[in-house]
Amino acid sequence: MSKTDASHVMPTYNRSELRFQRGEGAWLITDSDERYLDFGSGIAVNALGHSHPKLIAALKAQSEKLWHVSNLYTIPEQEHLADALCAKTFADNVFFCNSGAEAAEGMIKAMRRYHADNGAPERVTLISFAGAFHGRTLAALAAAGNQAYLQGFGPAPQGFVQCADFDIAKVEALIDETTAGILIEPVQGEGGVRDVGPEFLRGLRALCDKHGILLGFDEVQSGIGRTGKLFAHEWAEITPDVMAIAKGIGGGFPLGAFLTTQAVGAAMQPGTHGSTFGGNPLGCAVGMAVLETVCEDGFLEHVRDIDGFFRQQLAGLLDIYPDIFTEIRGRGLLLGLKCKPANTDIVAALRAQKLLTVGAGDNVVRFLPPLTATHDDMRAAVEAISAACETLRAELKANPEANPKADPKADPNA
Ligand SMILES: *Cc1c(COP(=O)(O)O)cnc(C)c1O
Repeated sequence: MSKTDASHVMPTYNRSELRFQRGEGAWLITDSDERYLDFGSGIAVNALGHSHPKLIAALKAQSEKLWHVSNLYTIPEQEHLADALCAKTFADNVFFCNSGAEAAEGMIKAMRRYHADNGAPERVTLISFAGAFHGRTLAALAAAGNQAYLQGFGPAPQGFVQCADFDIAKVEALIDETTAGILIEPVQGEGGVRDVGPEFLRGLRALCDKHGILLGFDEVQSGIGRTGKLFAHEWAEITPDVMAIAKGIGGGFPLGAFLTTQAVGAAMQPGTHGSTFGGNPLGCAVGMAVLETVCEDGFLEHVRDIDGFFRQQLAGLLDIYPDIFTEIRGRGLLLGLKCKPANTDIVAALRAQKLLTVGAGDNVVRFLPPLTATHDDMRAAVEAISAACETLRAELKANPEANPKADPKADPNA
């Protein structure tokens, strides 16, 4: 047996050395008291920023009463959160789990089970889209169809096809008697912050209705106020049959769920699905506090307001630094800048200015500020971006050869 001094954490991530000790709103503070502006939000998780008093109070209060009982019993906190989610959405039923991948996986199972229960067990195929990301379970990977993530993990689950373009005619061409439904992120996050647009979502809804198949939205990243509506699909004024959520709903507590219409939920009878931890009282108490806060009067207006301000400032930066940034993408505070140099270099240059961001596919740098960020936070970010651009530009000038070629396949999670 060999033991080393190296980290014993499995090396699946290229981690920065930064060690954060505490957080305050949009700011993270290291163990050596350095302050970083957190525009990654733990990858769209800390929707209410760090140390939000309502979330602390909800977790404290629940932690003193009851932590866990399992789904063998009725959990009032779970009932309460399910009621609230259904009151705010298209849904009639909610299944709680602990992560986005599990939520996507549950959504896929429910979409297939609905057809099996309604006399069409041959309808198992899900149509998804190039650049999609649904999580790291085998089925979620198969759904997204990203071969790099599947490589070396044996046979992928069957029953998934990907459409290369956001083109209704091409989607329709993939529909046959084995199709169960369509799976899509209304705004792709990991894949490169692509807003598929309201018109396309409406087209998909019409296709699903025409062919008697289900529409499933993965709003794990785009949901819970991130785009300035409670859910991104609300911009299109249509509803799905199934929806996966996670990330923001827990505000930092691991919580996911999939929501369904009455018709789909009816197919998920006792024994069809389960989770030991899913919907535990701690998670649901925190989730309820997040949902209540995001649904308070003025909250989503604030998101749209700081988004508008930030975008305007970013547009100015694009004019000044066309050698660094080429395009603004996304919707609301799920926002990306397409980069000319490698996005990994931009993320590093921003980090050197104490601004935390996240890379995404297609050489994009992703900005996911807390939804509670202030105008001052946005101004601080703009200053950090300008300073990073000046540094990058000086480096490019001094050594044009050093500009590494942007890798369009750069792993957004690495
Ligand atoms: C992050 C993400 C997932 C996976 O969530 P995990 O909690 O990491 O399992 C699934 N779908 C989308 C759209 C995501 O952004």
